[in-house]
Amino acid sequence: MTIKNKIVLITGASSGIGEATAKLLAKHGAKLVLGARRAGKLQTIVDGIQQAGGQAIYRVTDVTQPADLTALVAAAQEAFGEPDVIFNNAGIMPTSPISALKTAEWNDMIDINLKGVLNGVAAVMPIFTKRRSGQIITTSSVAGIKSFPGSGVYGATKFAVRNLMEVIRTESAQEGTNIRTATLYPAAINTELLQTITDQSALTGMKQLYAKVGITPDAIARVVDFAIDQPADVNVNEFTIYPTKQA
Ligand code: NDP
Repeated sequence: MTIKNKIVLITGASSGIGEATAKLLAKHGAKLVLGARRAGKLQTIVDGIQQAGGQAIYRVTDVTQPADLTALVAAAQEAFGEPDVIFNNAGIMPTSPISALKTAEWNDMIDINLKGVLNGVAAVMPIFTKRRSGQIITTSSVAGIKSFPGSGVYGATKFAVRNLMEVIRTESAQEGTNIRTATLYPAAINTELLQTITDQSALTGMKQLYAKVGITPDAIARVVDFAIDQPADVNVNEFTIYPTKQA
C-alpha cells in the first residue's frame, strides 16, 4: 500500500509545513483530514485540494484539547474510514532567553508542542494497537537534537517528542506490531512560525537567519511523502532537514 487512498490526519494544517504536506499528499491520492484552529485557512486549503481533484476535509482542532483530537479521528472515520497516519505537526516557537521569564509562553509551548503531540498519539493509538499497524509522524526540530540560546523551553518540548517517538518505535517492535514512527528535525523553513516570537531580540535574530538561509516548507512535505510511501515493514524514522546555506 502506498500513499494512494491512505487516510492521513494532519495537525497544524492551516499554514506552513502542514499546508504544504497536505497539498503534496493530496496530489498523490491520500485522503486528508486537516486540523488547526483557523477555520477560514483550512476551508481555503480544502477547497483548493478538492478543486484540483483531491480528497480532503477539515475540522477545527485545538491540539491542547484531547477531545478535539478524538473528534478529528471520528471525522476521519465518518468521511473516509480508520486513519492510517497521523502527522503531529502543530507547534509554536516563542523563543526567548530563560532570564526573560516568559512563563506563560513556556506553558503554551508545553501544552501545544508536547501535550498536543501526546493528545494526537492517544487519539490514534487504540485504532493502531487493535489493527497492529499505523504510522505516527511528528515534527520536532533541529532544536530537538541541539541546544541553542533562546530555545530552552522550545527545545525542551522538541527533545521530549524525540524521546517519545523513539520509545513508541521500540515498544511497537517489542510488542510485535507494525506501528511506524518518523520524527522530523527541520532547520530554517520559511513559514508563519516566527510570528509566534514576542521577544524582540530573539525575533530580530531569527528574522535575519531565515531571510538569509530559509527554504520553503515543500522540503518537509517531500520527506513526509517519502516516509509514508515506504513498504509497511520499513520504518524510516529520523530526518534532519537543513537548508544548504545554514551552518
Ligand atoms: P506555522 O506557524 O506556519 O504553522 C504552525 C501550525 O500549527 C499552524 O497551522 C497553526 O494553526 C498550528 N497550531 C498552532 N497552535 C495550535 C493549536 N493549539 N492547535 C492546533 N493547531 C495549532 O509554522 P510551521 O509550519 O513552521 O510549523 C509546523 C511545525 O514545524 C511546528 O511544530 C514547528 O515547531 C516545527 N518546526 C518549524 C521550523 C521552521 O523553521 N519553520 C523548524 C523546525 C520545526 P492555527 O493557528 O490555525 O491553529
